[in-house]
Amino acid sequence: MALRIIIGLALTVVAAAIAGRRLWWLYRLAMSGQPAPERIAAVREHPARDAETQVTEVFGQRKLLMWTVPGVAHFLTFWGFIILLLTIIEAYGDLFSKTFAIPGIGTWAPVGFLEDLFAVAVLVGLATFTVIRLRSNPKTEGRKSRFAGSHTGAAWLVLLMISLVIVTLLIYRGAQINTGDFPYRRGAFASEIVGHWLAPLGHSANMAIETTFILLQLAVILGFLVFVTYSKHLHIFIAPLNVLFSRRPDGMRDLQPMRSNGKVLDFEEADPDTDVFGLGKVEDLTWKGMLDLATCTECGRCQSQCPAWITDKPLSPKMLILDLRDHAFAKAPYLLAGSDEAREAMPDAVKAEAQRPLVGKAEAHGVIDPDVIWSCTNCGACVNECPVDIEHIDHITAMRRYQVLIESEFPTEASGMLKNLENKGDPWGMGESKRAEWISELDFEVPVVDGPIGDDVEYLFWVGCAGALEDRAKKTTKAIATLLHTAGVSFAVLGRAETCTGDPARRMGNEFVFSMLAQQNVETLNEAGARKVIASCPHCFNTLLNEYPQLGGNYEVIHHTQLLARLVKEGKLKPVTPIEEKITYHDPCFLGRHNKVYTPPREIMEQVPGVQAQEMHRCKERGFCCGAGGARMWMEERIGKRINAERIEEALGTDPDTISTGCPFCLVMLGDAISAKKGSGEAKDSLEVVDVAQLLARSIAEPEPAAPAGPPSSD
Ligand code: SF4
Ligand code: SF4
Repeated sequence: MALRIIIGLALTVVAAAIAGRRLWWLYRLAMSGQPAPERIAAVREHPARDAETQVTEVFGQRKLLMWTVPGVAHFLTFWGFIILLLTIIEAYGDLFSKTFAIPGIGTWAPVGFLEDLFAVAVLVGLATFTVIRLRSNPKTEGRKSRFAGSHTGAAWLVLLMISLVIVTLLIYRGAQINTGDFPYRRGAFASEIVGHWLAPLGHSANMAIETTFILLQLAVILGFLVFVTYSKHLHIFIAPLNVLFSRRPDGMRDLQPMRSNGKVLDFEEADPDTDVFGLGKVEDLTWKGMLDLATCTECGRCQSQCPAWITDKPLSPKMLILDLRDHAFAKAPYLLAGSDEAREAMPDAVKAEAQRPLVGKAEAHGVIDPDVIWSCTNCGACVNECPVDIEHIDHITAMRRYQVLIESEFPTEASGMLKNLENKGDPWGMGESKRAEWISELDFEVPVVDGPIGDDVEYLFWVGCAGALEDRAKKTTKAIATLLHTAGVSFAVLGRAETCTGDPARRMGNEFVFSMLAQQNVETLNEAGARKVIASCPHCFNTLLNEYPQLGGNYEVIHHTQLLARLVKEGKLKPVTPIEEKITYHDPCFLGRHNKVYTPPREIMEQVPGVQAQEMHRCKERGFCCGAGGARMWMEERIGKRINAERIEEALGTDPDTISTGCPFCLVMLGDAISAKKGSGEAKDSLEVVDVAQLLARSIAEPEPAAPAGPPSSD
């Protein structure tokens, strides 16, 4: 007895010391990052919301269950870990007393049953993971495997270790049944089966098996504990923290203002020597950013949904996080050194790691290739999928900010767009005089705001640069205006006073230009007294709704599809003319995934007589990007397959007559892809892409009167 106590406790002390040292090192590394007081404040302000998130995301495993089979397997394993904590208490108790039973639980049979049930459930989960990993093997599937680039060897080792935990557990419990030391007399069905197998070995053999396997079980658990702190399985402990401190409702929608030393950066007072401008070094990450790196489970869910990765670009959101993590860990001795002398005395390899540029080409030993950060469309698929709420878009944007504002390194073709925004207020540089031209093409008056908006005007219609200046998007603008006019909705526009919301500049990383444009717009909107705003562009919609509050612009913003769907429901718009077509709807990322507006456009289509709506395989939450977001609209797509081509091929799989959407950028990207497909004979000549508003406007028009019947034919 004394020996097993000594062995058990010695193993525990050694494992706790190794794991504790590692956890302390990780804590110090995280704390070497920038402060993030806003994350702590958010948790203090919303305890109920955060408690609910822990229940749904951590204990309910909501995001993991979006993938049914691996999700259920993980759910079983996760809950197995929690329930089987009881068996760890029992194993330690058994070191001291062979007939130990947990106080308060005693010999209560349901607990024995539950423990065995989850032990078996974990084995089922592990078997499922094994099959999944064998079927999705990076060696045979290449980039298509979500595990491509992950540390698969460590994953197999963990599967083995967890299996050993369960196997040793069932063996010592089976032996305990035979020695009479088992606390539960009934219910532990799996242990009873193992006990039945071990019974023929006799009492003393079972006594030896009991002691040996209790110690083996503790050794495996403690070995696992140590291994966890050195591997991706660290997420077992820190994922709840990462979820707790993540941005709510999710790490999408709004980009955060630039922060330095825990405060929002004021461009007028910023000092390039002491302030942090985006992410130029790994230690410019906040501690929450560092926590993101350590929490990644390498599951590859993000990678499998990333349009850049799918179309053979160098960006994988998973690999981005893993490369940053590997660099942070390798640079850690340098970051954690107490003095310059200590840093100077470091091995050359550590000093070389510390000198690596965070973003740079391989020949410059860059940690992240520039093509990686510029390939991102900000579509949000990665953030949406990540089961531990890692905020990829924030990190990519932070790197873009540093590259644009400090290094002046970005795709050259986008510089024209930035200049146009600065000088003319729109990405094409067409200027304010063109903004109201679409109004003269209508046969009714559209009031242009000149001073405070009158009480008789309910909505301000935010037209957007594309909606006012781009020929295809102008058709949508006119359709929306016509529908609002038909429904008797009072609205006005800003006309020449509207400028770009700044979204392309912000997504590009030029926070300075964004701030300039956004402040000007917020001033204009506030002076006009705007309260309810209709936006037709999801990028404008997102910026006005989610980002302008950061600058004091608080409005009730509605996307045109939301308002039009409501007007149809209220009977103020009546679609009557049949459109006998097969139509597939493409979800714009900034309307769908970022802002969860999935239903209204589909409701409008449902109400148009004759429309046969067909969903693409990747739709709604799993919608696939058109390739224009994240300012990619103004960059060349030189690497891999074009994202719009990938999307249109999926649409063509539904054999549509028309493709509908709710975004002027999707309209342009998909329209261009259709033209290319028509050129190669892969799409029919009549195929077109239209906004849902255009569809509705076509149906609202009264049907042409039928031609009078001619005389009966003599044939
Ligand atoms: S936002 Fe979209 S494109 Fe960017 S990394 Fe995530 S999934 Fe890939
Ligand atoms: S970032 Fe999230 S989704 Fe991607 S591999 Fe890591 S844990 Fe999985």
